[in-house]
Amino acid sequence: MAEVDAWIGLGSNLDDPENQVKSAFEDLRGLEGCTLEAVSSLYRSPPMGPKDQPDYVNAVARLKTTLSASALLSALLGIEQRHARVRGRPWGPRTLDLDLLLYGSAIIDRKGLTVPHPGMAERNFVLYPLAELEPGLVIPGLGALEDLLGRCPDTGLYRLEV
Ligand code: AMP
Repeated sequence: MAEVDAWIGLGSNLDDPENQVKSAFEDLRGLEGCTLEAVSSLYRSPPMGPKDQPDYVNAVARLKTTLSASALLSALLGIEQRHARVRGRPWGPRTLDLDLLLYGSAIIDRKGLTVPHPGMAERNFVLYPLAELEPGLVIPGLGALEDLLGRCPDTGLYRLEV
């Protein structure tokens, strides 16, 4: 199968979030059928949902993969589980959240898998790390990353390290 560029969004706000994200980078590096090509800096952002939870640490990663989109999503859910992710209330705190942001130029909308990931166009903690790695990126169905960034303030987002 041909290789596809896939973008993964990472987020954590429990149990040492910076280390959760860094060790998830290593988990992605070890995924069969995938080559980890680039990782962004880590960013700190305020919670999107209920405010009575810690800030998040976010990042994005780019893989080359021969996995299908659904096989890649299953692999991501497996990594989440190994990070002791417990699904609590919606938008609640989590040790690790992995989202399949983009899978090549695919637009997918089926039960359990939507790509580009819904809401990514309004999430500064996704758009800014993407721009750090590939400012000229075009998001299938949504347009140029540069234009999305222009409509999405960086308010509350801090880059933790380069
Ligand atoms: P959440 O943990 O809130 O991000 O939701 C995870 C659920 O969303 C999973 O069970 C997936 O089936 C579903 N989902 C749909 N599209 C995606 C995607 N692009 N990336 C990650 N999860 C997705």
